[in-house]
Amino acid sequence: MIPFNDLRPLVTKYRAEIDAAVARVLDRGWFILGPEVDAFEAEFAAFHGSGQHAIAVANGTDAIELALRGAGIGPGDEVITTPMTAVPTVCAIERAGAIPVFADIDPLTCNISPAAIRASLTPRTRAVVPVHLYGRPADMPAILAIARPAGLLVLEDCAQAHGATLGGRVVGTFGDIAAFSFYPTKNLGAFGDGGAILTSDAAMADRIRRLRNYGQAKQYQHLERGINSRLDDIQTAILRVLLAHLPDHTAERRRIAGAYRSHLGNCCLPEPAADIGHVYHLFVLRHPQRDAMRKWMADHGVGSSVHYPLPVHLQPAYADLSYGHGSLPAAEAAAREVLSLPLSVGLSAADVETVCAAVASFPGGGSR
Ligand SMILES: *Cc1c(COP(=O)(O)O)cnc(C)c1O
Repeated sequence: MIPFNDLRPLVTKYRAEIDAAVARVLDRGWFILGPEVDAFEAEFAAFHGSGQHAIAVANGTDAIELALRGAGIGPGDEVITTPMTAVPTVCAIERAGAIPVFADIDPLTCNISPAAIRASLTPRTRAVVPVHLYGRPADMPAILAIARPAGLLVLEDCAQAHGATLGGRVVGTFGDIAAFSFYPTKNLGAFGDGGAILTSDAAMADRIRRLRNYGQAKQYQHLERGINSRLDDIQTAILRVLLAHLPDHTAERRRIAGAYRSHLGNCCLPEPAADIGHVYHLFVLRHPQRDAMRKWMADHGVGSSVHYPLPVHLQPAYADLSYGHGSLPAAEAAAREVLSLPLSVGLSAADVETVCAAVASFPGGGSR
C-alpha cells in the first residue's frame, strides 16, 4: 500500500543531522525560548527577506490567534476568510474573539475569491485572512486592492505554503502579518506541534512576543494579558535542520506534481500561471465521482485523502453561524470533488507511476 503521507523517508534522510541537533539542545540544558528558538526565528525571518520578524509559537492555530490579537482584532470585529480551509483558521478567529465571515472560493484554484471578499464587506469588517490553499498562493494583488482602501488588516494563512511565491515574492510578505504551522506533515514540519508569525512591523512583533509568553515584557513584568504559546528548543533545532533543506523539498514536490500533471491531465486543478510558485503542499484532483475513484485507488493499493470533505460553514460545530447548504456553492461543489494524491519527500518514481496507473485506470475516467 502506498500511504497518502509517509514521514519516515524524511526522518531517515536527515536522522544524523537531527540527532546532532537534539543532542546539542540536551547538552545545553536550556529547553524553552533558548538559543535555538532565537536562531530559528532569525533564519526563518531571513528566509522571507530582510526587514522581517519571526515569532515562534506553539502551533499554527495559536499563530493565527496571536497575529489577530497582536494587530488589535477582537470582540465584535468581522474577519473574512474562506470556508475551504482547515478548521483551525476559523478556531483561531473565534479564539481572538472575532466573528468569522465566509467568502466563497474561486472554483478554478479553490482559493478565496476576491470578488466574494468584496461582497462580504460590512461596516464591521476589520480583517481578511486569505489561505494559500494546497500551497498555491491566493490572488494577493486583488485582495490587497480591496483591503487597503477599506483599511483592513491582511493576515496570510501560510500553513500550507512555506516558500510559495507570486511574481517572485514569497508569501507571508504581501499582507500585514502572516501565520505558519509546523505540524509534521506541512512543507516545513517539526516532529511535534509548532507555528510562527511573520511580520515586518517591529512593534507588532514585540507585542506578539509578549503575548506568547503570558504578556511578559521582562521577567515578572506583565504589560497585558497573554497566553502560553511558546515553541521549544528541541523542535526549533529540528526545524533549523529542515529549513535549510526546504528549497530542495519544494523542488522535489514540484517534480512529483509535474509527473502527476503530465499523466493525469485535466483531472488536476489547473496548472498555475508562470508567475506563481506553487509549493504543492497537496496535489489535488477534481472528479465528479470522487468517492468511487478514491475506493478504486485504495483497491489498487494507493492511499489518498480529501481536503476538505466538508467546508467549514457546513461543519456541525459552526451551524450557529447560519450558513446553510447552498450558501457558498463553489466551496460546496469543490468539497464533493477534490481528492489529494500521495505527496511527500522521498516518494519514489515507481510509487508515482503506481499512483498514476491507479487513477488513469479508474472506469469512471481517470483523465477526463
Ligand atoms: C495546519 C493548518 C492550520 C493550523 O495549524 P496547527 O499547527 O495544526 O494548529 C491552519 N490553517 C491551515 C490552512 C492549515 O493547513
